[in-house]
Amino acid sequence: MLLHCAHARYVWNLAVEQHGYWQPGRKAAPGFAEQCRQLTEARRDNEWLAAGNADVQQQALKDFAKAKSARFASGFGEPTWRRKHRHEGFRVIGTDRVPEYHADGAPLVNAKTGRRVMGRSVVVQRLNRRWAQVKVPGCGWVRLRLSAKGKGAELPEAKTFRVTFRNNQWHAAFAVVPEPVPAPGTGAVIGIDRGVAITAALSDGRKLNCPQLTVKERAQIRKHQRRAARAPKGSERKTAEYTKAAKLKAREVNRRKDWCEKSSTMLARTCDLVRFEKLNIKNMTRAARGTVEQPGRGVRQKAGLNRAILAQGWGLLRQRTGHKAPGRVEDVPAPYTSLRCSACGWIEKRSRKSQADFVCVSCGFTCNADENASVNVAAGQGGIPRPRRIAGAGGVTAATSRSNAREPQPAWVGIPLFEGEDVNSRTSRRSTSGTATSRPGTS
Ligand SMILES: [Zn+2]
Repeated sequence: MLLHCAHARYVWNLAVEQHGYWQPGRKAAPGFAEQCRQLTEARRDNEWLAAGNADVQQQALKDFAKAKSARFASGFGEPTWRRKHRHEGFRVIGTDRVPEYHADGAPLVNAKTGRRVMGRSVVVQRLNRRWAQVKVPGCGWVRLRLSAKGKGAELPEAKTFRVTFRNNQWHAAFAVVPEPVPAPGTGAVIGIDRGVAITAALSDGRKLNCPQLTVKERAQIRKHQRRAARAPKGSERKTAEYTKAAKLKAREVNRRKDWCEKSSTMLARTCDLVRFEKLNIKNMTRAARGTVEQPGRGVRQKAGLNRAILAQGWGLLRQRTGHKAPGRVEDVPAPYTSLRCSACGWIEKRSRKSQADFVCVSCGFTCNADENASVNVAAGQGGIPRPRRIAGAGGVTAATSRSNAREPQPAWVGIPLFEGEDVNSRTSRRSTSGTATSRPGTS
């Protein structure tokens, strides 16, 4: 199977190279059909490539073609190089032939020949409740342990499956788009505020925490890294110690993924509408390094924060919830969700007393800060234009693309909690009390 991985990687990287050579003015890079023809030629000329499985090699080209056509939509961008030890895997196309059907159940017939269209199906057999076996070309029957989802259910009817080798473990994933989780139909709307101290605070008061490595496990990682660093270069001991550290790190990833899967299923099952605050995690975790000429400040601290953010699995939780409850997940603009009082709608930086405490300076509402934010998210509130500095208030009007002939904006911004409540009544009340001239520090 490792040989299959190597061949698939070789073919994929050739395709990457072919497409990397293309630039405006040159002839188009070869598509899937042309590449398949070239593969046949390459197999004729190279004995070692011909010794491999043709289907595995062709499926690598198919994968590449799919990745290439989905590069704008997939979020992964252009297909890139695959590396040994890091991207080990190959796709197997089923060998069983089964008749294809339309979506409405009518048999699919070839318009020219009038014959039934036959599709592929993976040969997979259940051995018992926990185990199944699947045919891998060149390897015969390969037994596999079913995951929690496949344990009780029927085996998937897939056309292909993908075998991957990572963290010293083999995995087989059947290419099936699962049915979405049905909505409970109770009309329940939940808001989720994602943070570092509490991974996901729900608007009903629940707090979900993504499991991390224990202190002991972290110490073990450091121990193995230290031992590896002190071992002689290229020694077996060095490799062994790094392997041990990698194993522990893989455990952290597994825990996080498991938690994300369970939490997203729970959310999809129990709520009709799930609202997340819209976070640009990629921008949030940008390095503070700067350049050689202008090094950034607090680089180590920022790196630590980035690591803590990425360890929470924010993106994965949102993504998997979206997969399981399509159309029932919304993104709420994030600005001010953590500063807005969920009881009266007042936005004030001073209301956030500390990481955990929220005490509204307007109405005195006291709440856990994360819970307060998640209630705002559930209400879809928080996304308001930033209050601008007003020239008359001692500040500077920042240059924006918007008209500078706008009316002076209120320095204190209140959002009506319910429709119909008058925003201006609140701002005017603040104006008369004489505090409106000082601007809240929002920069
Ligand atoms: Zn309040």
